[in-house]
Amino acid sequence: MKTAIVTSDTSLDHDTGTGHPENPDRVTAVIKNLKKNKQLIWKKPSKIKNKILEITHSPDYIKFVQNSFPEKGLLFLDGDTIISPGSKEATIDAVGSVIAAIDGIENKEFKNAFCAVRPPGHHAERNKAMGFCIYNNVAIGAKYLIERYNYKKVAIFDFDVHHFNGTQDIFYENEKVLGISTHQYPFYPGTGSDKEKGKFNNIQNIPLPAGTNSQEYLNALEFGLIKLKEFKPEFILISAGFDSHKDDPLAQFELLSKDFYEITKRILKISKQSCNGKVVSILEGGYDLNALAESSNEHVNALLEFD
Ligand SMILES: [Zn+2]
Repeated sequence: MKTAIVTSDTSLDHDTGTGHPENPDRVTAVIKNLKKNKQLIWKKPSKIKNKILEITHSPDYIKFVQNSFPEKGLLFLDGDTIISPGSKEATIDAVGSVIAAIDGIENKEFKNAFCAVRPPGHHAERNKAMGFCIYNNVAIGAKYLIERYNYKKVAIFDFDVHHFNGTQDIFYENEKVLGISTHQYPFYPGTGSDKEKGKFNNIQNIPLPAGTNSQEYLNALEFGLIKLKEFKPEFILISAGFDSHKDDPLAQFELLSKDFYEITKRILKISKQSCNGKVVSILEGGYDLNALAESSNEHVNALLEFD
């Protein structure tokens, strides 16, 4: 059983304007590196209908987004979340990639998957676009696992350097989902203190200061992994943000590319014990192109080695 990469050329049509850190070159950099690896299975997103979005976002919000896509030029959904004509398909295909990845694992086509998508999703709340995110891809994946496959325990592990405020918002009162986030704090988006725990103690925030290095990060990660293990998830989704790399221009963690191999290995070890290795990882942040390409390659290598 192999690892699948789910991606679509439509992600390149999501134009965010000149000089925006969240731009098409990111997916291009990730894919260029992964194409060298001949063991990977390449998959396209599933075609999805609005009802897949409606399990997570409100119908009014979906209507607002779908009426906002401009026929030409750019439109700002918030100060830094920009959409263009091509964003309409890109946003749908980002979600469709997660759905294809989940279905592929459930149908035993491959053992695990990485979705190389954009726009990212973890800042998008039920009713709000923010922080480059429009639909919350990982949250829709978790809801889909619960509704379509009847899972009762889905874990989301988010190692993006920013707090997963959108994912937390969506699952704050949902005991079927354990959300764990490591992030720089205090920092954008402002949330993510360890006092935010969710109604069922189902949110685990691990705030860390600017300057956190590899060893400090891996020590803190262990705390999250204990929670993950105790939860005994039936499926694990990863919000894979590589902006915790030392070279990232948007944040101040000091992780090295190889750390993403180690982080992934440790999450996978728990997935083996609790859910037979069922893991779908979804690209979130990462804004230095070299660091992003290297780190995502380390991440995928760990997924590939797992058996
Ligand atoms: Zn981020």
